[in-house]
Amino acid sequence: MTSPIWHPFTQHGLREPIPLVERGEGAFLHTADGRCIVDGISSWWVTTHGHCHPRIMQAIRDQTEKLDQVIFAGWTHEPAETLALGLRAIMPDALTRVFFSDSGSTSVEVALKMALGFWMARGERRHRIVVMEHSYHGDTIGTMSVGERGVFNRAYEPLLFDVIRVPFPEAGREQATYDALEVACDGEAAAFIVEPLVLGAGGMKMYAPQVLAEMRTICARAGVLFIADEVMTGWGRTGSLLACEQAGVVPDILCLSKGLTGGAMPLAVTMASEPIFAAHYSTDRAAMFFHSSSYTANPVACAAAAANLAIWRDEPVRERVTALAAMQQARLEALGARCEIRGARTCGTIAAFECAGDDGYLADIAPRLMAFFREHDVLLRPLGNTVYVMPPYCIDAGTLDRVYDVIAEAIT
Ligand SMILES: *Cc1c(COP(=O)(O)O)cnc(C)c1O
Repeated sequence: MTSPIWHPFTQHGLREPIPLVERGEGAFLHTADGRCIVDGISSWWVTTHGHCHPRIMQAIRDQTEKLDQVIFAGWTHEPAETLALGLRAIMPDALTRVFFSDSGSTSVEVALKMALGFWMARGERRHRIVVMEHSYHGDTIGTMSVGERGVFNRAYEPLLFDVIRVPFPEAGREQATYDALEVACDGEAAAFIVEPLVLGAGGMKMYAPQVLAEMRTICARAGVLFIADEVMTGWGRTGSLLACEQAGVVPDILCLSKGLTGGAMPLAVTMASEPIFAAHYSTDRAAMFFHSSSYTANPVACAAAAANLAIWRDEPVRERVTALAAMQQARLEALGARCEIRGARTCGTIAAFECAGDDGYLADIAPRLMAFFREHDVLLRPLGNTVYVMPPYCIDAGTLDRVYDVIAEAIT
């Protein structure tokens, strides 16, 4: 019988093969038909330390012996408490509160709701969200609303709420972004939400730390809340624990997921500054923060995340990130010398470029490249004609060479 599974972001009508993965280890995925695949995109940007990191796997096993799941409204448990304190210790001091959810999208939904709750409590009519062109914040109705509009959400457009959009800060044209943000920030603006330094799904578009710092300053001056969506950029991806760090920026609200558990379990947090928590703090039950999902702060996921924090504390993760960043830069430069690519760029462990052909997510070249990579045992998933490499931090030089050799072969 054919599989009844309806896969995400998959056109089943194209009948592309869907490999069955049995086992993961480090930078490799092993398929049921005996192939060993290099995971060049960290399984959609989540796997930071590598697949099945022994300490995370052990933490999961240990937790399953104790507590599987418990209601989190009005109850708590040790893995969540340990994790929240660990996050307080490693994340910026001003982010005093940790709210749990279970995916990047929900962490963003929570951030937006916190921002509106904040203004409501203050009795100010601020409800507009300011966003950046080409952003991606998730696939729920709220997160699509604050993300780029296009072929991904055309059918749902009638359900999406209005936002104020500022242009992406192209190098040399940053002033246009600042000017638009200044204008957007007066009046009804509640918050500005942004992906710091790298716009992931929008095409690995990168901008400089000083641009992030300037945008933060504009928001602070106008009293508009600054939401950093570090769902992809967090946990070392851009070379530092948070991308915001490189700009000396501390957001009012921070969204984290993907690498939060090292990529092993679905979990997210939205961290908020004290004034945002205080705006919801009262003896009036009508003023509480009205949000939860069934698996909020699942104990097994929290245990995995606590193990991830321990790995950040005890292992040379920052050194691995720095080493990978240098390797990525060198490989990309060498690739540029071997074949025709445009817009070669890196930010920390992320390397990206455009290859010849049409721009846009539905560019014909993407599925052809993806098939070529798959046939050559490399997992890469170009965004239109934008090819990017975002491996787990444990990948070794030889394996990364293999990835770039296959890329060179694909595009020549
Ligand atoms: C992946 C991503 C999300 C959504 O996370 P999910 O866990 O897929 O819901 C949100 N924001 C950014 C920047 C992302 O890269």
